[in-house]
Amino acid sequence: MDQTFHSYQPPGISLPEPIKDLERLSKNFYWCWHPEGVQLFRDLDSMLWDRVEQHPQKMLSDTSELLLWQNASDPDYLKKLRAFAEKFDAYIAGKPKIYEQVSPERPAAYFCAEYGVHTSLPIYSGGLGILAGDHLKSASDLNLPLVAIGLLYRYGYFRQDISHDGWQEEHYTNIFTYGLAIEPVIDANRERVTVMVHIRGREVYAQAWLAQIGRIPLYLLDTNIGQNAEVDRMITGHLYGGDTETRIVQEKVLGIGGVRLLRKLGVDPSVYHLNEGHAAFSTLELVHEYLEENPEQSFSDAVEAVRPKCVFTTHTPVAAGNDQFPPDDLFGCFSKEYIESLKLSENEFLALGRADLSNDKEYFGMTPLAIRMCRTSNGVSEKHGEVSRGLWQKMFPDLSDAGAVPISHITNGVHHPTWIAPSFQALFEKNIGDEWQKIARDKDRWPEAIWNLADDDIWKTHILLKNVLIAFIRERTRRKDTGTIDTINERTDTRDLFSPEALTIGFARRVAQYKRWNLIVSDMDRLLKMVNDKERPVQFVFAGKAHPQDNTAKKILQDLMRINHDSSWQDRAVFIEDYDQEVARYLVQGVDVWMNLPRRPMEASGTSGMKAAMNGVLNFSILDGWWIEGFNGENGFCIGTDHNEETDEATDAADAASLYETLENQIIPTFYKKDERGVPHDWVAMMKNAIASLTPQFTSDRMVNNYIREIYNAG
Ligand SMILES: *Cc1c(COP(=O)(O)O)cnc(C)c1O
Repeated sequence: MDQTFHSYQPPGISLPEPIKDLERLSKNFYWCWHPEGVQLFRDLDSMLWDRVEQHPQKMLSDTSELLLWQNASDPDYLKKLRAFAEKFDAYIAGKPKIYEQVSPERPAAYFCAEYGVHTSLPIYSGGLGILAGDHLKSASDLNLPLVAIGLLYRYGYFRQDISHDGWQEEHYTNIFTYGLAIEPVIDANRERVTVMVHIRGREVYAQAWLAQIGRIPLYLLDTNIGQNAEVDRMITGHLYGGDTETRIVQEKVLGIGGVRLLRKLGVDPSVYHLNEGHAAFSTLELVHEYLEENPEQSFSDAVEAVRPKCVFTTHTPVAAGNDQFPPDDLFGCFSKEYIESLKLSENEFLALGRADLSNDKEYFGMTPLAIRMCRTSNGVSEKHGEVSRGLWQKMFPDLSDAGAVPISHITNGVHHPTWIAPSFQALFEKNIGDEWQKIARDKDRWPEAIWNLADDDIWKTHILLKNVLIAFIRERTRRKDTGTIDTINERTDTRDLFSPEALTIGFARRVAQYKRWNLIVSDMDRLLKMVNDKERPVQFVFAGKAHPQDNTAKKILQDLMRINHDSSWQDRAVFIEDYDQEVARYLVQGVDVWMNLPRRPMEASGTSGMKAAMNGVLNFSILDGWWIEGFNGENGFCIGTDHNEETDEATDAADAASLYETLENQIIPTFYKKDERGVPHDWVAMMKNAIASLTPQFTSDRMVNNYIREIYNAG
């Protein structure tokens, strides 16, 4: 076992006096959504920045003394540092706003099992975490009083390697390796703040850490402390690792421990936002708390008191995304006393997690629990709201019409300052002004500002980003050079790999069956014809992880990796390992087209396409999730129709045919139709349309504002 970080302190940093502010700045993630903040760390030593995977703490401890002093004596650097530190201080000094019921005294509490704030805090696996991170950044920018609760996974999520035969391998690293921008939470007596949760017949302690996301505190619970038994120390070991029991106990720490932590911190939320069912045990703890104070009352009295404060967001219609626990595992983790304290029998307890109350074989589901215990439930796109109403109608046997099921929707969004490339940000700032970030929220003012930009400027900026992506691809694949070319992520020579002239399509998705990776290569001859075309070639960049236990998905990945044709494929298709936020950034900013092929209606929302659109990358997607709302006929391309065929096979065939046709007849001709100076004006018009129409509609500022108005304050 690794050492206990019970008394962990960030590595001692001794910076030259003139650049001391860097230390303070590195401890709040505010820097990561401001290009000039990122630049301050990177400029210390740009090679090292890459090597330490953008960890500011590691940067400050590893930059050579000489470089530190060189920067400390560089007037330009100091000027930038001072300007950014002042901007940060002014931002932090801003008094929190009062949004009706949500006030500094009664903030919103946001619970989520993962957060993707920045690569240097690797406690997320994918879309859900990135969404939660973006929620916090927008809440901070909107100055919403909000407190976030999560878990600190000591080994995070797995890192992906692809072996010679194309098989995915997983490995984990201790996330403390690079130093983390988190602080231990200390009480008035300078003691570590801990909470206790009863698990498997023992008291388990979790210590709290604080990550500061702009103005938003993110508290993370961690059971890796000496007082705990060895197995309990590993409860917060791996994100989505381990068996059912591990999941239950993790979710107990998150939900029950999370509420207890809020109490220790003296926080009395006006609303508890359960982002995904993982946190739904928090509602039980609120009942438990209520009944301790009001022992004469019943479970249903308590629910009446608790329900008005709880709101729930469901994130997927895919079964595997909705936790379900067998009763035996559940009772192994919950004590009799706790269930009794809720004034419930074991059967009544189990019924809380059942969608169909007439089926006593049904497992305990976190989604039914949340829907039952919360005052509102919502899906994450209009379509997903509708699908969820159908999916959970069985919970409301009195309702004959699925439309009446009380599940609404708020469409997801992405934090535009985080995802728009610095070069585009600079272009916007120059032409639209310092207030461009605010104007980007405004669906009346923003489009006009974008249409006024010169085609040449948009195209030049895009080509710049495309070149950065290609350099990144070559670098990543060269690093992977193993002397064989068995798979498309191994290269002996990367100089000919990819061309900035060629139409570049990005496809980065979790590898899961419903994401239909296989559609792309379903007609290899037709595909290769496009790839091999001398005049108008197409190239593909792929990325994505398969769930460690999903061998079907790993096989899909392996099949793709092993396509080894006597053609240009090896030079024009590449797989980037270990898809994460940093890889996503290069991809969504640098490709020409962003493709998505989910089987309708499984894509609850999807967010990566929104990131792409804000950078003028054109979406090429199935009409599902957010794209049904976003697509206007001229801001990207759709694949297939809005409905499925009789069978999955027929739907797949129809969608594949549409995919190839749209590529051949629309995308390739429009992309390659350039003027004498090489600018494809029709294409650029679509890019402008995408940036203009989709940025205000899909920024997470809009999303968080919707939550404030329609959910947090609607109680
Ligand atoms: C945005 C993002 C996602 C979500 O992507 P979708 O496939 O659109 O749901 C997943 N992983 C990473 C690393 C991301 O940045």
